[in-house]
Amino acid sequence: MPVLEQLYKKALDCLPLTVEEGLFLYEQAPLEEMMFIGNRLRHIYNPGKITGWMIDRNINITNICFSQCLFCNFCRIKDSPDAYITKINEYIKKIDELYALGGDQLLLQGGMNPDLGLGFYIDLFSRLKELYPSLKLHALGPPEIVYLSKKENISYYEVLSRLIAAGLDSLPGAGAEILSDRVRRIVSPAKATSDEWLAVMREAHKLNIPTSATMMYGHLETDMERIEHLILLRKLQDERPDGHYGFITFIPWPFQDKGTPLSVKKGVRSSYNGPGYIRLIAISRIMLNNIKNIQASLLTVGKDIATLTLNAGANDLGSVMIEENVVSAAGAVNRFDAGDIQSIIKEAGFVPVRRNQKYELM
Ligand code: SF4
Repeated sequence: MPVLEQLYKKALDCLPLTVEEGLFLYEQAPLEEMMFIGNRLRHIYNPGKITGWMIDRNINITNICFSQCLFCNFCRIKDSPDAYITKINEYIKKIDELYALGGDQLLLQGGMNPDLGLGFYIDLFSRLKELYPSLKLHALGPPEIVYLSKKENISYYEVLSRLIAAGLDSLPGAGAEILSDRVRRIVSPAKATSDEWLAVMREAHKLNIPTSATMMYGHLETDMERIEHLILLRKLQDERPDGHYGFITFIPWPFQDKGTPLSVKKGVRSSYNGPGYIRLIAISRIMLNNIKNIQASLLTVGKDIATLTLNAGANDLGSVMIEENVVSAAGAVNRFDAGDIQSIIKEAGFVPVRRNQKYELM
């Protein structure tokens, strides 16, 4: 039976905890002690008081998606009256607004639309880069890469290489949800499996494109599956070639249940609560001894809990996300501008520093 003090020491020595050790800490350690350890580690991995934030804009490429994940309120089938594919003039209008607010990073996401192949994305990225050479594209995610690979009958490496050549700057960790196929078969059966998600990220790391790792929790997964998720990320990060970016950050956020099929049809409500999120941030900081940054999801957990996470392992509050449509479609109500996010960080006793998608300070 692991003893808490021994595990605290192992964590503070930045050693990799096993599944059993991580689960024991996660379930048994008092919250204040978890926060203390998470905070000490925050200062080891990111010394000083700097807390990152950024400005970016979300544009959804299309809301047509064959996947129909049960936690998603955003997707539509092709013939829905409100189905869309964003047109180039709309991109231009939105990117002009982004530049006017001082940002140059675009988060491009959307559904897996069966009518859109690799050529569509290559044309889109090339056109945007032609119009805005300084624009940074943080776009798609492993499920889209798996989908495009199958559709075009080419490898993940080839899909990623062509997208990078067209202008992809970094790959979000979208679609990780929980890396357990038991859970994925229920909540998102048409989407990439755990192994597929990890395999895409492995190729992205070989290509040295920055990536992020995520977790969407609080639905059907067990505590053990959360810890196993963290260990799968850690193992993959260990495989990245020397000097390559790998995962530059880890971002967990809770399932937003409002109006989702998972909630309405299956009666599954989000198990989110504030102390639980702080505990998750702390255990993530402890388990992920090879990922430098831990980002709290200000958008989904709000100011009070996000502030506390900065003393529990998180060193970043993410983005002033202009036009977020996916989690907000499922009930996330928080909105912050550049002034708000900096005030929140200062009130928590830290120094807000704006960064880019690669976590380089600006
Ligand atoms: S979460 Fe993404 S992949 Fe799943 S249905 Fe929604 S848009 Fe499609």
